[in-house]
Amino acid sequence: MRKGIIFDIKHFAMHDGPGIRTTVFFKGCPLSCQWCHNPESIDSKPQKITKQKILDGKTFEQTEIIGKEMKVQEVMTEILKDRIFFEQSGGGVTFSGGEPLLQFDFLKELLLECKKENLHTTLDTCGLTSSEAFESILDLIDLFLFDLKIINDDLHNKYIGTSNKTILKNLGILAKNRKEIIIRFPVIPEVTSTENNIKEMLKFLSNLPPLTEINLLPYHNIAAEKYKRLNIKYYEFQKPAQVILDSIQQIFIKAGYKVKIGG
Ligand code: SF4
Repeated sequence: MRKGIIFDIKHFAMHDGPGIRTTVFFKGCPLSCQWCHNPESIDSKPQKITKQKILDGKTFEQTEIIGKEMKVQEVMTEILKDRIFFEQSGGGVTFSGGEPLLQFDFLKELLLECKKENLHTTLDTCGLTSSEAFESILDLIDLFLFDLKIINDDLHNKYIGTSNKTILKNLGILAKNRKEIIIRFPVIPEVTSTENNIKEMLKFLSNLPPLTEINLLPYHNIAAEKYKRLNIKYYEFQKPAQVILDSIQQIFIKAGYKVKIGG
């Protein structure tokens, strides 16, 4: 059986799809969003970090490895511990990250195992992988949480470090296949929440077979400390004011979407 690099498994997750879920976080992401809340997920290899703790006036250093190699069966053992909660709540498994599609073969094997166990599966994805690979796993996934960030390709390159062409193409493939999709839109003031970007998003979405739900994910700066520990450049953005979130919510509601603030 295949192995992959996982950096966390969260039991009893409530915001990553319907019901009570087990969320498996894959390490490695092909994007570099300047506002990433999980910077420890971007590098695909395990990483050593040092934390400082002050006890009784003395400073102690504690090292920790983020990310560990796990076999498909080991991940399944963790997932299946929660089966009773899935059954009682209509929940299941969510694969998140990082980007699960970056470890495509490992993800596919996990999805096949989940389907053998008759579990509901959700993929939380930035959508960047070859369209052929993407199409080959559509039937194994019940719900997609699909990140849609910036429509203008130059701006996508500027803030995220890569083109969005394949991402948009893959979202089109999903919609045409009538898959259940929730769009996740990170609200980053002056970057994603501009009038232009929202207008372009609505236009892009209106050309797809209808999607019904959008979650607005407000930027927060709780990851600042993690950037320091990982020695990664930290970009500071403003948190969106409630009035901005409310107005974006209203724009999408008027366009016919069900909108939730938060994941
Ligand atoms: S897609 Fe998600 S995990 Fe990847 S860099 Fe962007 S915010 Fe971070």
